[in-house]
Amino acid sequence: MNCFIGLFIFVIGTVLGSFYNVVGWRLPREESIVSPPSHCPNCNHKLKILDLIPILSYVFQKGKCRYCHQKIAWYYPIFEFLCGLVFLLCYLVFGLSPELLKSLTFVSMLIIIMVSDFNYMIIPDEILLIFGSLIALEMGLIDGYKELLMGLLNGSLAFLSMYLLKKIGDFIFKKESMGGGDIKLMFVFGLMLGFPLAMISIFIGSFVGLPLSLLLLTKKNDHVVPFGPYLSIGAIIVLLMNIDFNTLINLLNH
Ligand SMILES: [Zn+2]
Repeated sequence: MNCFIGLFIFVIGTVLGSFYNVVGWRLPREESIVSPPSHCPNCNHKLKILDLIPILSYVFQKGKCRYCHQKIAWYYPIFEFLCGLVFLLCYLVFGLSPELLKSLTFVSMLIIIMVSDFNYMIIPDEILLIFGSLIALEMGLIDGYKELLMGLLNGSLAFLSMYLLKKIGDFIFKKESMGGGDIKLMFVFGLMLGFPLAMISIFIGSFVGLPLSLLLLTKKNDHVVPFGPYLSIGAIIVLLMNIDFNTLINLLNH
């Protein structure tokens, strides 16, 4: 790997991550994602370029707004750092390859979904449609139409399986066990990762999500936790492991 390219991709990840955060917060409320421009939630002062440099602005301003000196939530720099890190890891796994473009598109979608589902329990259709189409387009151009058809078939299988899981869940818990967004999201997982790995990301996501959900449930009273963020974490782990299904089966058999 090339350090300069790695650093460049990390920085791109922090900048895009900062933007994706805005999209994830505003889109479910049907607000414009460009206006009003970024401003301090406390004094409403419009933020200048210098205030908007991911991570660094927070560090140099010692975590305070430059205009009203109100503390800025630590969530922002941590979130930007994690987005940069995920982008960098994609580069480390896939190198400068067409695969990298596809994986960055995929994780971009997951980042927005995590923000929006975690805060509003909504996975916006627009995001699934835009990023799902982009991934399909990239697959068609990079891997050819046969792979794309395979991907669409995998997506449909994952979608149907999740739908079935929801029906079973609804029956067992006697209430809505997951939202329609989670089911549609599985289509994109199947398209991008293939059917078996899409199902494995549900498993990993549930495993990661269970302790976190229990923690959240003790704090919130509504007994509902979003599933999208955990599915997304599962998918990122599966993506970064970059193993195909046959290798996995061989590993399990030994
Ligand atoms: Zn302020």
